[in-house]
This record gives sequence, structure tokens and C-alpha cells, in this order.
Amino acid sequence: APAQIAVTGLAVMGRNLARNLARNGFRVAVHNRSQARTDALIEEFGHEGEFTPAADLPALVAALEQPRKIIIMVKAGEPTDAVIDDLVPLLDEGDIVVDAGNAHFADTRRREDALKAKGLHFVGSGVSGGEEGALNGPSIMPGGSPESYAALEPMLTKISAHVNGEPCCVHVGPDGAGHFVKMLHNGIEYADMQLIAEAYDLLRHVLGLSATEIADVFLEWNRGDLESFLIEITAEVLSQVDESTGGPFVDVVLDQAEQKGTGRWTVQVALDLGIPVSGMAEAVFARSLSGDVVRRTAAAGVLPGPSEAKADVDRDAFIDDVRHALYSSKLVAYAQGFDAIRAASDQYNWNIDLGAMATIWRGGCIIRARFLDRIKEAYDRDADLPSLLVDDYFKDAVTSGQDGWRRVVATAATVGVPAPGFSAALSYYDGLRAERLPAALIQGLRDLFGAHTYRRTDREGTFHLDWSGDRKEHQA
Ligand code: NDP
Repeated sequence: APAQIAVTGLAVMGRNLARNLARNGFRVAVHNRSQARTDALIEEFGHEGEFTPAADLPALVAALEQPRKIIIMVKAGEPTDAVIDDLVPLLDEGDIVVDAGNAHFADTRRREDALKAKGLHFVGSGVSGGEEGALNGPSIMPGGSPESYAALEPMLTKISAHVNGEPCCVHVGPDGAGHFVKMLHNGIEYADMQLIAEAYDLLRHVLGLSATEIADVFLEWNRGDLESFLIEITAEVLSQVDESTGGPFVDVVLDQAEQKGTGRWTVQVALDLGIPVSGMAEAVFARSLSGDVVRRTAAAGVLPGPSEAKADVDRDAFIDDVRHALYSSKLVAYAQGFDAIRAASDQYNWNIDLGAMATIWRGGCIIRARFLDRIKEAYDRDADLPSLLVDDYFKDAVTSGQDGWRRVVATAATVGVPAPGFSAALSYYDGLRAERLPAALIQGLRDLFGAHTYRRTDREGTFHLDWSGDRKEHQA
């Protein structure tokens, strides 16, 4: 029988996705630009299911039942366009092309437009969970037309991760919606990791705990609200001993974080949408700073720290404060992330179901966490929630943790340990809840130097003060 679906691009992700499909009983045609990967897949894993190896794209297309469903899993960017260009002339109206790589959602919108004009469906789909997830159940975020999703749904929901019997795969919305949400997922992942790193750094420098002691703290935290994949693997990394030195593994790793760009995209896009995503922005900037060897070398040991670099804190109380700082900052990062999804959904008419996005992320992906259920519940209670932070669960969590959170930020500043994620999140929280912000002064300044006008608290209208003349107010 002809294959039901095809995968082209058989590096770690594509190979594992193809195996996942085959293991779930689907007939999969497979192809890779260089044949060696196709051969290796068949040789090593051919027994796992019904694979049809294809030497080139025409053979891949010929192996499929119609309408054809072809997943592209190649390097994002130009390679994806190259594959699409080669593939499209071989397809017939109604065929479905899925890009499961990490495309920028603007590219996905462009490609969807181009293929739609040719009568083809283009589905930009986020896939998260790394190679392990691709094989055993990723979190899947498909965009594109409802018709194409209806055709793909039985396969995608079968191979995705499941939590409480529910698939971590929901149709996100038209055109670029799936890749947008995947990008946001990665942005939140950046923020999550930065906050975890700050918690570690503070426990190490303020309390002088060893890496293994901190691993135990994270294991303990993983039994509560913070329970998540990233907290769990933090304990694993921190307890790892380096073979050659016999010391903690974390101490021999160069402290320069790398990035592939999805965090940066998130922040760039959020700037355009006008949505503060300070948690993610600080995470991206912190990685950039870590990699800025020139300036770090010039400053380390040269720029002085505080005169008092010790904090007088109780060990257990401080650990608990850091837990609160981590959780509250994380709630802020997610609230900001969901604000960005809502804003994009409004701007591009995607009509995204925000609660469903939390469902997708509960399993399979890197940010999978117990607390995502709380987000789902919050949007079930009120689909139009203006900010996750005003939901009762979030409000109570921050209320009970905020004194500890404030002490942690104050301690970090006092002893000179950088905590940009914790402090930016706290500033956002305080900004959000403020009755009045100093933006009033900014408006005054703008009116003085540029006649940019201002509005009043007590009357409708737009005004300008004649700053250089009689200082009288005029209706603008
Ligand atoms: P890579 O991103 O390393 O890409 C390698 C694959 O792309 C190979 O199959 C390669 O073929 C193919 N390729 C590169 N250029 C071309 C081209 N011009 N024409 C045709 N094929 C080309 O592979 P990964 O498996 O790591 O990732 C695949 C996609 O999944 C990427 O978009 C990535 O961003 C995304 N992704 C990756 C995750 C991960 O954890 N790695 C997680 C989630 C998404 P050849 O063998 O011939 O060189």
C-alpha cells in the first residue's frame, strides 16, 4: 500500500519523527538530500515499522497516497525554501506540505501565501522536545488551514505526547500561528532557564552551598509547584561530577551561553507588538553578556563590587525565599508570554485559544511543567483574562511569595550577584499593579521638548502647554 505520510530531512529530528510515525503504525516514506542518512535509518530502524525509502523527491512524492502529506524537517531558513521549491512542482492540488522545523513565523506566512496560490496547503508546525521528544512524543503546534489540520490530526495526535490521555497537539490557528507559538515556547524556555540559573547562583554565592547541595534543593523543589522538566534536569546537571577533575561538572563548563536565535526572535517580535516580555529579554541579554568576552575580561577584577559582599541570612529561610522568587518570576514570564500570544493573535486574526496552548505544553516539550495546568484552568475560568497575574491562582501564588521575592532581589543587589530575571520580573509586577506611574512625568518632558502633547486625568482631550511662552495650557 502507498505510504500515508512522508518525511524529508533525516537528521536527528526528522529521523526520530519518522520512527515515531512508523512505530505508531503509519506507513512512512523517507528521504534525505544525502542518501546516507536514509540508508542508515532503514538499516538501523527499518524493522520498527513500514518505511519506504526514496532516493529523490520525485520518488518520495510517487510513494504517497493522495492527498499527499509531506513533512519537511531540514535546517531552518534557506534550506527549507530550497526543499519547498523542489517539491512544489511535483505536487497536485490539495496536497499538504508541513514544515516542522524552527521557521520564523513571518517566513511561514510568506510560504503559506505562496503555496495557497498554487492550491496547496502549507502547515508551519512547531515541534518541541528535542530528539527524545520527536521519537517518544513531542509537543506539536501546527498552524495552517483547518482542512489541512483535519487531514493531519489523526497522525499528529497519535505521535504527540499525551497528558492525562489528552494529546499535546492542538491546531493553533491559520498560517504562521503554529510557528509563532513555538517561538514563544522557546522564549519562555530562555526565561525559565535564566531564572533557574539565577536561583543557583544566589544559593551558591549567598549561602555558599555546593553544586550537589543545590542539586538536592532543586530535587526538593521538584516535588512542589515548581515541578517541571527543567527543574528536574537542573538537579541532574548540578549533581554531575567531572571525570577529569573530580569536581562539579558545572565548574568546568565555560560560562558563555550560546543561542540559536529563537529567543532573540521572540523579543524582537514582542518589541514590534509593543508587549513587554522583560523576562525573556533579560534572558537573551544575559546570554549575550555571558558571551561578551572582551568586555567581561576588561571588567572582571577591575570594576569593584559592594563593600559588604556578605548577606546575613538564615539558610533555610533564604532557600525558601529563592523558591518564591523563582516561582513568582516564572509566573510573570508566562504572563508576559501569553500577553504576546494574545497580541499576535489579535494582530494576525489567528483566534488562538490561549488555554489550549498551555495544554500543548504540558507534555513532550522542554517547558513541560505541572503549573501549566494552572494556566489552562485560569483561561477556563475566564477566556478574556487581561493578564494571567490577575487570575486568583496566580494572584495568591505571588501574594504568598512576594516578600521572599523582594528579599531575594534586595539581597542580590546588596551582595552584587546579578539577578536580572528576578528583578525585572519584580519591576514588571510592581509596574503592573501601580495606581500611578511616572509615565506622567515622561509625557510632561515630551510635551516640553517636542510639543508631543498630553492627556489629562480629569478631562477629555489632548493638550499642550506653551512652555516657552506664557505656560498656559491649550487644547491641541
Ligand atoms: P539540522 O537543523 O542540523 O539540519 C540538518 C538536515 O537538514 C539534514 O537532513 C540536511 O541534509 C538537511 N539540509 C540542510 N540543508 C539542506 C538543503 N539545502 N536541502 C535539503 N536538505 C538540507 O537538523 P535537526 O534534525 O537538528 O533539525 C531539523 C529542524 O528541526 C530544524 O529546523 C531545527 O531548527 C528544528 N528543531 C530542532 C530541534 C533539536 O532539538 N535539534 C528541536 C526542535 C526543532 P543532509 O543530511 O543532506 O545534509
